[in-house]
Amino acid sequence: MYSINKIINVVSNNKPVSKETERILKHKLEKNNFTVAENFDPNGDLVICIGGDGSFLRTIHKFNFPDMPIIGINTGHLGFFQDLSPHELDEFIFKYRKGDYKIDEIHPLEATICTRNSCIEILGINEIIIRGYKSTTIHLNLSLDESFLEKFSGDGILVSTPTGSTAYNYSLGGSIVDPRLNMMQITPIAPINTVAYRSFTSSIIVPEYSTIKVHPEYAYENSILIASDGTEHRYNSIVEVQIQLSELKVKLLRFREYNFWNKAKEKFL
Ligand code: NAP
Ligand code: MN
Repeated sequence: MYSINKIINVVSNNKPVSKETERILKHKLEKNNFTVAENFDPNGDLVICIGGDGSFLRTIHKFNFPDMPIIGINTGHLGFFQDLSPHELDEFIFKYRKGDYKIDEIHPLEATICTRNSCIEILGINEIIIRGYKSTTIHLNLSLDESFLEKFSGDGILVSTPTGSTAYNYSLGGSIVDPRLNMMQITPIAPINTVAYRSFTSSIIVPEYSTIKVHPEYAYENSILIASDGTEHRYNSIVEVQIQLSELKVKLLRFREYNFWNKAKEKFL
């Protein structure tokens, strides 16, 4: 056994079942000679997140995309990210100690948001959304790499990773993407298609190395809202938003063969 002295970060949401799972898990880890970090240790060996997909996303954002692998214990609804259930703790610890696991790497989206004064970067594991702040139509000039694609008119656009394709993207009529593909999906949110305005009405799929550029129409600069993984960011006078896949990795620990399509069937059919 070569896993002694590893430092484990355990993070939990506030649901009673999560807190109880956290208590049992910490006890079991310590009995197996792991060190459970008291506060989040950025140099730890593993993050275990107890909750639903939302908690998983929030944990990664809160701890600033840590380099160590992460695994989730699901106490939510289905758990696309959450690989373990609370009754599998012993099996998990046994396999983790043996090194009997695999790591799947996923890349988040990176949006560079430029206002008149400065640029800032935000990351999205599921998606990045550019939408109107108010209920009025917004108009966005959309370019792919250096070529102009369309002037979008409607509520906004959502750019999703393969991992995020089963979340908000799917509710908007976007496609479910096999996570073995590297791509980005641009899904329109209530596109207008009339004699006055023309926008693509289906999702558009672009390769992993593309750069998506969005220039809000001048009059609408002040009413743009950016959201990533359920968190909103608002800036005044947005001139350009550039979205691409980040080089950063999120390392998902899998301790058995992860069958994405079984999960998708279970959730949607
Ligand atoms: P939430 O509003 O509580 O979550 C919405 C639902 O999306 C939850 O059931 C959540 O699962 C699920 N979910 C999250 N990531 C998923 C994924 N990759 N595949 C399948 N389902 C997923 O918000 P939240 O829990 O903080 O999660 C943030 C995410 O919610 C956003 O990234 C966005 O994709 C999604 N969202 C969806 C809609 C919509 O479908 N109309 C609207 C707003 C936000 P859990 O129950 O396990 O947390
Ligand atoms: Mn949730």
